[in-house]
Amino acid sequence: TTFKDLGVVDVLCEACIELKWMKPSKIQKEALPVALQGKDIIGLAETGSGKTGAFAIPILQALLENPQRYFALILTPTRELAFQISEQFEALVGGMDMVAQSLMLSKKPHIIIATPGRLVMDEADRILNMDFEVEVDKILRVIPRERRTYLYSATMTKKVQKLQRASLQDPVKVEV
Ligand code: AMP
Repeated sequence: TTFKDLGVVDVLCEACIELKWMKPSKIQKEALPVALQGKDIIGLAETGSGKTGAFAIPILQALLENPQRYFALILTPTRELAFQISEQFEALVGGMDMVAQSLMLSKKPHIIIATPGRLVMDEADRILNMDFEVEVDKILRVIPRERRTYLYSATMTKKVQKLQRASLQDPVKVEV
């Protein structure tokens, strides 16, 4: 299976090859076609599985298709993880050709005051273990109901199940 087989657009396929991601990882194989069809995802996958790519690629592809419209909010438990995620986004964007890059970046304002149409919760079990439940609830209350949501977690705890029920609409389950 190639990234292209899964529905990834050429510029992003090239960016993956540029990063030496020669073929999709298992979680990417399962998640990408579902996410690219616009469905919500509940993903069970650990760090090292390639889960960041599994949500970064659909977000970048949506941005390429509609640079004005899509914003994504990614919640993750630590600054270190946030930094690692941003590095993967930067690497993917850096691997795209100039035309695609400028299409995406030309619409990028310096200050964004926006409500996200896409929500990704990464390592949800750890977010909840760190007692961020109240904050997550607040965010869920202010962002649009009409959105795509991806929730990734290494374990399926009671708290994660509760968050899943509160945040996802008819999600497809993907697993490594
Ligand atoms: P993650 O599980 O998202 O933290 O990713 C772990 C590492 O795998 C990162 O260094 C990625 O750059 C790398 N990676 C992600 N997808 C692939 C892929 N399809 N092939 C090879 N490496 C990958």
